[in-house]
Amino acid sequence: MDLYKYDELLDKAYEKIPENVKKSSRFEIPKVELRIESRNTFITNFNRIIGTLNRDKKHFTGIFLKTAGTMGEIRGQQLFLKGQYKEQVLNRLIENYTKTYVLCNICNKPDTQIQREGKKLFLKCTACGAREEIKEK
Ligand SMILES: [Zn+2]
Repeated sequence: MDLYKYDELLDKAYEKIPENVKKSSRFEIPKVELRIESRNTFITNFNRIIGTLNRDKKHFTGIFLKTAGTMGEIRGQQLFLKGQYKEQVLNRLIENYTKTYVLCNICNKPDTQIQREGKKLFLKCTACGAREEIKEK
């Protein structure tokens, strides 16, 4: 079998994968876009980040601010942070949030929901069916 044909076969196999699986396999942890104003930081693509993560704004913001160790608030489409922050620092926080509260531990897909049971939180995966307790850090 020559290489060209092999690629063609891969393409064909890929086409057979249902749309929602293709979508989630292309999931990328979102990165911040920042605007610094008077020594404070605005995450200008906050709404898009929330949309990609598919999580509750308040849940994300609460944990994000706590781990960033600062105060802030949602202002329209943006998230305001008190203080000046570097992109890579905030990206790391989003990465940590995503790994803990979005990606399934078993199949690594983002098709999950947070379920609360008393004081415990569980991550229920709609892709593989796993349900794992969330270990908050
Ligand atoms: Zn899963």
